[in-house]
Amino acid sequence: MTQTGFKPICPICEEPILTNDADMHEAIFTRGDVQGLKHELRKIVNHRCNVVHRHHICNLKKYHGAGHGSPEEFRACVYRILEFEGAEAVSEYMNNVLDFAPVLAPRAAQVELLIVDYRIELVKGIEFLAESLLKKGKK
Ligand SMILES: [Zn+2]
Repeated sequence: MTQTGFKPICPICEEPILTNDADMHEAIFTRGDVQGLKHELRKIVNHRCNVVHRHHICNLKKYHGAGHGSPEEFRACVYRILEFEGAEAVSEYMNNVLDFAPVLAPRAAQVELLIVDYRIELVKGIEFLAESLLKKGKK
């Protein structure tokens, strides 16, 4: 959340997106990935578990092809989706995609590994918070 209310945060520069100068970025599966699939299956790229808002300028500067290119930016985009949609929804989306397009399994496996990392970081954050509270209680 920003001072101006709930605004999407660009996963690349971590700044809020305050204007319409944003791009919908296909973070996990791109149109290119689904080109060989039946027309109705190509809609999977528009799913909310596949797209993030990014500043137009950040999109130009820090392009990554989904699942390749910069691993840091891929991770940042997937984490942003996980923050908004939740790990269960993203996992379910991966399973649905694989039911229709098993060819996308390597990318889905990459995302599942990122979900594990994301959950580990969440647990570490909670542990840190709990330890901080316990230290305060001992003072
Ligand atoms: Zn940005």
